Amino acid sequence: MYCQVIVDIAHSRVDKVFEYSCPEGTAAGSRVKVPFGGRVEEGFVISTSDSPSFDARKIKPVRCVYDEQPALIPECFRLMENIAARYRVPKAVALRLFLPSEMRLGRVSEVYKNYIRLADPTIPLSKSAKNQQAALDGLRGGDREYTAFCEEFGRSAVAALVKKGGAEVYKVRRTRSPMLGEDEPFEPVALTPAQREALAYIESSPKTVQLIHGVTGSGKTEIYLSYIAEVLKRGRTAIFLVPEISLTPQMLRQLRRRFGSAAAIMHSGLSAGERFDEWWRLRSGEAKIAIGARSAIFAPLENLGAIIIDEEHDSSYQSETAPRYSTIDIAKLRARYNGCKLILGSATPAVEDYICATEGRYGLVELPQRINKKPLPEVVISDMRAEVRAGNNTAFSRALREELAATLGAGNQAIIFLNRRGYAKTVICQDCGYVAKCVNCDVSLTYHSEENCLKCHYCGARYHMLSACPECGGVHLRYGGTGTQRVVADLNRLFPSARILRMDNDTVTGKDGHYKILSAFGRREADILVGTQMIAKGHDFPSVTLVGILDADMSLHFSDYRSGERTFQLITQVAGRSGRADEKGKVVLQTYSPENYILRYAVSYDYKGFFENEIKIRRATLFPPFSLICRVMVTAEKDGPALEVLKQVYFAIDELRKADGDEFIFFNKMHSPIKKLQGRVRYQVLMRLKSDKLLPKIYDIAVGASSGDVLAYVEENPANLS
Ligand code: ADP
Ligand code: ZN
Repeated sequence: MYCQVIVDIAHSRVDKVFEYSCPEGTAAGSRVKVPFGGRVEEGFVISTSDSPSFDARKIKPVRCVYDEQPALIPECFRLMENIAARYRVPKAVALRLFLPSEMRLGRVSEVYKNYIRLADPTIPLSKSAKNQQAALDGLRGGDREYTAFCEEFGRSAVAALVKKGGAEVYKVRRTRSPMLGEDEPFEPVALTPAQREALAYIESSPKTVQLIHGVTGSGKTEIYLSYIAEVLKRGRTAIFLVPEISLTPQMLRQLRRRFGSAAAIMHSGLSAGERFDEWWRLRSGEAKIAIGARSAIFAPLENLGAIIIDEEHDSSYQSETAPRYSTIDIAKLRARYNGCKLILGSATPAVEDYICATEGRYGLVELPQRINKKPLPEVVISDMRAEVRAGNNTAFSRALREELAATLGAGNQAIIFLNRRGYAKTVICQDCGYVAKCVNCDVSLTYHSEENCLKCHYCGARYHMLSACPECGGVHLRYGGTGTQRVVADLNRLFPSARILRMDNDTVTGKDGHYKILSAFGRREADILVGTQMIAKGHDFPSVTLVGILDADMSLHFSDYRSGERTFQLITQVAGRSGRADEKGKVVLQTYSPENYILRYAVSYDYKGFFENEIKIRRATLFPPFSLICRVMVTAEKDGPALEVLKQVYFAIDELRKADGDEFIFFNKMHSPIKKLQGRVRYQVLMRLKSDKLLPKIYDIAVGASSGDVLAYVEENPANLS
């Protein structure tokens, strides 16, 4: 018997299928060890055949076949072809996505535990073999764990006993899944009419992709879980994706209670071994629901009945390492392959997805109201320009201070949110709210301290640093800012008796650092939680009645065409943390540009208004989804070779432009905004294209130009252009 193998080496020259002979019964999807180029490498069997495709005498045998059950399911091969072609990566690299990293590199044995059992209790042993006799007797009471057994009776005696056939060693796969919450009873809630209608709509809609646009607290999660329960009843399986940060202990408990061991939950709190075990539970069919962040889209589930992506707008669904795939695109492929629905859900859908729904390419469910018609929290705007004029130079407006005092006085909790992304980079006039923008691109400029200049990340234009505001002449320009530390210090001074917790990259350490802080806050061990982006999503704290957003505009001026969208999303998400339980919530939003339309829409929870406006701007300025931003990054340790490759890439793409000039809205080569990162210089060819027509050719150019230490790779609509 023969098998066709993809060798697990990430190199385009090895990106072929090789043939080996193999033991009878070897199945497609198995992992094997094969002789390759004088060494032994791991590989994946993608198909088998009875006869060889070339001279049988030249075909080498595989060294061994791993796993009783093939690790890869048939669907993997189809997806592998797609991913390899779409993102131009070697097939081996595409296949690796489907296996837990713990499984590669032969580390499989870690998850097996050896046991020893009695094989022949009547075996004759010599009188002098006292230790062997003791070991044999030791097994009469039942099987033992091998390592402990050896420690008790001596390794050599045990080995001799096994050799003589008196005992035998066998392997058991250890399962290490932490089953928290499983023994708590699950009590189903009666769905609301809106939830029932949503499910009925999705069920009967002929469209593969379904978008649920529902305000925070509108019962989306309950819809997902009911849908999954239905899918399981029909004997099918499901994938449920959430941003990592949403897998809070509350969420885990809820899932365990509802689905017990049918759910395999992959979260960052798991050890490598636990993750591996969860993966095998899915592969073996013991678990039927894969729940996790981005990578769970590759779960080894056959017969998928649903794929659900919660918070579908979240940027974590875009992979930032090769292959730079879009999770939603992979999900669409899997949904079509399995003939099941892909459900996207969000309170603030990505503009690119909402337009698909309005144009009828996706099904659309709207849930404009919270469960039990609970009101959304009231949002109050504090104009920070007025605060500066009134001589208030603290990080807190007078209104926010009063609300904080009232909240603490009533024994409730508050969250103070600091929008740090892009902080200290944008220049803002504190007197009038003016923000420096690029004349060509209408996006905010970014301050680069090392060159003391302002740069546009979309066209590379450079501007002199400002000494005064060009609009009002004011000199209170700010491009440094308040950090969480300073906010905590201010709070301590203003509210000396309040207990304060801080959550940001500096305080969150270890794999479950943020769980610890959030659980402490959930147990009401603090009155105020101060944090950055990390606290925006997914958490449900019943006694939080106030959310303060310290600088709502900071991400508004982040130099990205999506900054308006990101700001709207962030404010909506953060505001959703307030007033989740019985008491009505309040949000104070501090800003230097209170008249900004994005903030206006966010304050009134008007997603549609925001969307209509945003899409108009994108259409007029030709930004995605009406164009594609494409960047070819070139990085290397040394400047010279990097520049060589940059030129090569640039000229090759320029040939495309000469042939098809209409496709290019913008095209240039330049330093990346961050010129050097982790010891590697960074250059880029930046393009704005009318469509994705030329994308395959651009990928080819980048792959062809990478050589030795110089890496050239393509990014599509990158979340960040630094
Ligand atoms: P979303 O995911 O849209 O933010 P959730 O599904 O978390 O909303 O629901 C918000 C709150 O309403 C949760 O506390 C949830 O337990 C509750 N809830 C959801 N559906 C129902 C229902 N049918 N009956 C009663 N409570 C519900
Ligand atoms: Zn520009």
